[in-house]
Amino acid sequence: MSRKERIRPFVLVNVAVSADGKLSTRERRQVKISGPDDFDRGDIIKSGADAIMVGIGTVLADNPSLTIKSAERIQERLSQGRPEHPVRVVVDSLARTPPDAKILHKGPGQRIIVVSENAPPSRIEGLRPLATIITTPGDRVDLAFLLEELGKQGIRRLMVEGGGRLISSLFAAGLVDQLSMFIGNMIIGGENAPTLADGEGWIREEEFTRLDLAGVQTLDEGVLISWNVRRDTRTGSG
Ligand code: NAP
Repeated sequence: MSRKERIRPFVLVNVAVSADGKLSTRERRQVKISGPDDFDRGDIIKSGADAIMVGIGTVLADNPSLTIKSAERIQERLSQGRPEHPVRVVVDSLARTPPDAKILHKGPGQRIIVVSENAPPSRIEGLRPLATIITTPGDRVDLAFLLEELGKQGIRRLMVEGGGRLISSLFAAGLVDQLSMFIGNMIIGGENAPTLADGEGWIREEEFTRLDLAGVQTLDEGVLISWNVRRDTRTGSG
């Protein structure tokens, strides 16, 4: 096991996709794929996480708050001496997070905006009163660097909520441990609609990330599938 793997948090990707594998429409507009039981399941995962992370594409498209919804789960966290909500993390190379984004205002707790060396200083300064800024090397957020930083800050369990570009890069860097996907009962369609792992994709079979099936259950009007990422085949795990 490399030093990096020891320091970085356990990474769980949780998404809802349509029966044809789409995260949303071709307009990248948020759509309701999950039913109430799956939303509640997402809330349980969130309440078990130290941090929750999304890409800037998701912040701009969905404007999520990423707070825990259940009052009981919040109470439970507080009674364990944990913060009310997980640390909320936005992967945002150019500091495009709108200062009025819900993620920066709803509920107490730490926010982290992760930028690259290319982020305009004026935008960083606008966000600094609202969030901790982490700058990673290079012109795009370096996810391995980031996860090590989060590990150093005591984040042991990181939930990733999307979207497809961020998830793809996490797989490419070999940084995903578990994937849970709710498959909803609709076809969204559209070759340009986001999917679970967008980005460039992989060509050779030996580059594919291999998964071990951990569970299948019916939920709401769809199916929940849980996978463990196979360590020896994880892309980029070297
Ligand atoms: P995203 O994955 O949320 O964010 C992607 C952006 O993150 C990139 O364009 C890039 O913008 C930034 N980024 C910085 N460093 C990166 C890196 N190393 N790797 C990848 N991205 C990096 O956006 P998305 O793919 O457009 O997905 C958004 C869509 O997914 C929306 O339609 C939303 O509704 C949907 N969604 C669905 C679910 C679901 O469960 N169904 C969950 C979440 C989102 P910069 O270059 O500017 O930094």
